[in-house]
Amino acid sequence: MTTKSLITGGAGFIGSHLAKCLLDEGHEVTVLDNLFTGTKANIYPLLDNPRFTFMLHDVTQPFWGQFDEIYNLACPASPIHYQRNPVETIKTSFLGMMNVLELALKTKARVFHTSTSEIYGDPNIHPQPESYWGNVNTIGTRSCYDEGKRAAETLCSDYVREYGLDVRMIRIFNTYGPHMHPQDGRVISNFIMQALHNRDITLYGDGSQTRSFQYVDDLIRAIRLFMRLPLEKVRAFFAGKGMSMPVINVGNPGEYTIRQLAEETLRQIPESASKMVFEPLPKDDPKRRKPDITLASELLGWSPAIPLREGLAKTIDYFRSV
Ligand code: NAD
Ligand code: UDP
Repeated sequence: MTTKSLITGGAGFIGSHLAKCLLDEGHEVTVLDNLFTGTKANIYPLLDNPRFTFMLHDVTQPFWGQFDEIYNLACPASPIHYQRNPVETIKTSFLGMMNVLELALKTKARVFHTSTSEIYGDPNIHPQPESYWGNVNTIGTRSCYDEGKRAAETLCSDYVREYGLDVRMIRIFNTYGPHMHPQDGRVISNFIMQALHNRDITLYGDGSQTRSFQYVDDLIRAIRLFMRLPLEKVRAFFAGKGMSMPVINVGNPGEYTIRQLAEETLRQIPESASKMVFEPLPKDDPKRRKPDITLASELLGWSPAIPLREGLAKTIDYFRSV
């Protein structure tokens, strides 16, 4: 069945892959984006498709449209971008979510929300299961994003409890791939751009902090599997787990130190003359991060298929071409 989908933040990195995937499946897609961190270049190949519409709009302002599904992705995701205008970031997370939920309530749309591993903060449980409540600073420089995303989850939960809305949430762990903004400051885009242009590879701290990196195609597959499930099945699964809200972690549990990532990047760009240098660790930078993906694999029969080495090679090819 063809559905009408709205993707807020659909001109960004993940949103543009999701838009393409939905169009490839035969659906109608509207992308709503204010192009704060996204770019029309990400969606150029989609603009000619008669089933595709672009809406230049800020998600913090109400909007209208009849959709079967609303995917809420609008929010800057890299620390450099979300800290540039922190008040805008927290407004986007909260007011954007509110506008999505209000529209869904009026139009009976199914909602998908992109939450984040950042809601676990600097975790003191490892790996992080969905039942972990997190260790988050409320007044730090990352808080506009972390707390904005936590408030968005709370808002979703209250619309589910109060109005019976069909909302599904994924806590995304560090995801990378083509269409990442080359200057967004995230570690994979930084290291690849630095290596390709023979600039120093900037390791923050001593590079011993870890992250688990997921290639974007694995995430998109999980999002679509989750959104296709009938509501009764979703409710029964989470009730069976003693959970009141449909939220799952999605990420690749392969865990690497930032130093290992730098070494692998340089190994894959052998012509690079870049050297590793060490710079101060940003405040509140989480020391370790790795998803527990038991729930996602039980609910969706999903597991990531693309290891870091392979995903990095595809991403390097992309950055060589832009
Ligand atoms: P991105 O910055 O590439 O995309 C975000 C998009 O939202 C951009 O196109 C931007 O222009 C748009 N946007 C920002 N503020 C807006 C506003 N007020 N109104 C309308 N559009 C607005 O980032 P991404 O990596 O594609 O992230 C997409 C979503 O996934 C975000 O919500 C992010 O928090 C979440 N997420 C991403 C990761 C990751 O590793 N990439 C991890 C966890 C969660
Ligand atoms: N990082 C780094 N060098 C860079 C960019 C990031 O060492 O040029 C580190 C950063 O301090 C963090 C990790 O890489 O420990 C992941 O950073 P990113 O901004 O990609 O994501 P997040 O911190 O949100 O997980």
